[in-house]
Amino acid sequence: MDYNMSNLIPYIPASEYDKVAEDFLGLYYPEALVKPTPVPIERIAKEELGLDIQYVCLSEELDIYGMTIFSEGSVEIYDPEEGLYDSKIFKRKTVLIDPEAVKKTNIGCRNNTIAHECVHWYKHRLYFKMQHFTLPRQAKYCKCGVEQLPYATEEEDIMESQAVAIAPRILMPKTPFVEAATQLNIGYGKDNWKAICQLADFYDVSKQSVKIRLEECQLM
Ligand SMILES: [Zn+2]
Repeated sequence: MDYNMSNLIPYIPASEYDKVAEDFLGLYYPEALVKPTPVPIERIAKEELGLDIQYVCLSEELDIYGMTIFSEGSVEIYDPEEGLYDSKIFKRKTVLIDPEAVKKTNIGCRNNTIAHECVHWYKHRLYFKMQHFTLPRQAKYCKCGVEQLPYATEEEDIMESQAVAIAPRILMPKTPFVEAATQLNIGYGKDNWKAICQLADFYDVSKQSVKIRLEECQLM
């Protein structure tokens, strides 16, 4: 995998998404590559990546579900009790998750959001490091929106789509996931609902996320 040397964003063609997820697990939780295994992503984020995960409200409209802070600085958060936005200083390596906004995402589960922020840290911290040199006075963070954020730059959109695509692949790595789905007899034209529920329970992700993953793996 290469980087765009002008901004240090990795080039990741869609055909390499599974490989990037497998590399991540190879480093931080290789047992998930051997057989179907739930991935304890919150523990990996904290203990292996050293991220501090905090659950806070990020916006009144619930349109931002996650943020990763790449350099210490002031970040705007929302206080739902007061109905006001407030600025607060957060340290580098803090991940902020808005549990209510997570429910509005397509994938709708906390584990996927944590995996998503892990991808930002794992693959995009060089980009933000470079931003820190070019624009030192601004806090460096990425904002993850339920919908595409209207003010996002092209670079931010690229990184966002990488994290969206790779996060479920970390939680449900392809080979063992296909093995688990095959054991449950999932296939085209069948009533797969019960098996989807079982997989969602097993991997601790949403049923919607399992469905998308099954389609990506061409199992249904
Ligand atoms: Zn994101």
